[in-house]
Amino acid sequence: MLFVAEPFLGPEEQSAVVSVLESGWLTLGSRVREFEQAFGRRHGVEAAVAVDSCTAALHLALAALGVGPGDEVLVPSLTFVATVNAILYVGARPVFVDIEALDSPLVALADAEAKRTSRTRAVMLMHFAGHLAEAEPWQRFAARHGLLLVEDAAHAVGVDGVGRYGDAAAFSFYGNKNMTTGEGGMVLMRQPDLLERARRMRGHGMTRSVLQRLAARSPHYDVDMLGFNYRMDEIRAAIGLVQLGRLDAMNARRAELVALYHQRLRPLEEEGDLRIPRPRSGVSAHHIMPVLLPRHADRDAVGLAMQEAGIQTTIHYPPVHTLSFYRSREPELRLPLTEEFHRRELTLPLHPAMTDADVDRVVESLGDALAASRERAA
Ligand SMILES: *Cc1c(COP(=O)(O)O)cnc(C)c1O
Repeated sequence: MLFVAEPFLGPEEQSAVVSVLESGWLTLGSRVREFEQAFGRRHGVEAAVAVDSCTAALHLALAALGVGPGDEVLVPSLTFVATVNAILYVGARPVFVDIEALDSPLVALADAEAKRTSRTRAVMLMHFAGHLAEAEPWQRFAARHGLLLVEDAAHAVGVDGVGRYGDAAAFSFYGNKNMTTGEGGMVLMRQPDLLERARRMRGHGMTRSVLQRLAARSPHYDVDMLGFNYRMDEIRAAIGLVQLGRLDAMNARRAELVALYHQRLRPLEEEGDLRIPRPRSGVSAHHIMPVLLPRHADRDAVGLAMQEAGIQTTIHYPPVHTLSFYRSREPELRLPLTEEFHRRELTLPLHPAMTDADVDRVVESLGDALAASRERAA
């Protein structure tokens, strides 16, 4: 089976894990520190806070920024549910915004402008598929209305500019992301004092960690805020350091595969009303390979036919506003472009271990499945 995503791991990750086990220090130690510093440097900032998921990173970012009850946060619905859940965790209200266009599935500035109210406190951007949002228009929008700008950067690790759009950014190292630690995440924040606040919230709000108490030769600590346990352990940090070293090569291979997909899919684009989203910013981490099937194609039948040919496909995403929990909060809400995008979207396999021949096989299988779908319709 050719999978949609697959972690790219080697013997270096194995020996990194073994050396942590041999060291006897398993959590929040020197490797976590080193990973934070290396990850921050890689994204052009001084410091970062490692956590155990992107969901935790999003929660800490919003909490450290002081977003809370009475605030509204503009957010895409075409995202993973965790982006929106984090807004509810801090007691704020998510306000769903439609996408720009079918071939540009990022949150639309015009719709954000239309849905802004006097209670809007923040905008959450999500770099869908790794396609970076256009920074300048969003920075102007945020500055004009005094809004916080937060990136859900789960799809866009390692690309130039990501993590520095606004006030905070959250990254994911989940098993299917561009680099992985199994589970894991990272917070970047523009203001050093707020990043330190997030760091404290990560560990129960304690004023001193175990290492700091050792260094200070004092067992005492205080708790002066509501904290959480979102710590990263040394095992994941050690894997993360190796993966970070591979990131450029892995992202470069993704870019090659996407270029090959574009080339091979061109006939289907020209004849068959197949559409491929492309980044308006021109920059992408190529996290996933989404295509929009022709309007009348039976998407689920196409996915099933491809699975029978040994190729996994998936759908990004069921729009969050259509999931029962969110639908019950806002039954009338419609986002026409987001909904059409979801109805036609199919995600093809994309990961750095794929060969050029794998791409050919996927495109051939997709072409066959679409032809079969057309015949059934006729
Ligand atoms: C994967 C993902 C998350 C959640 O990441 P976890 O590390 O699993 O918490 C959040 N947002 C987006 C867009 C994602 O793709």
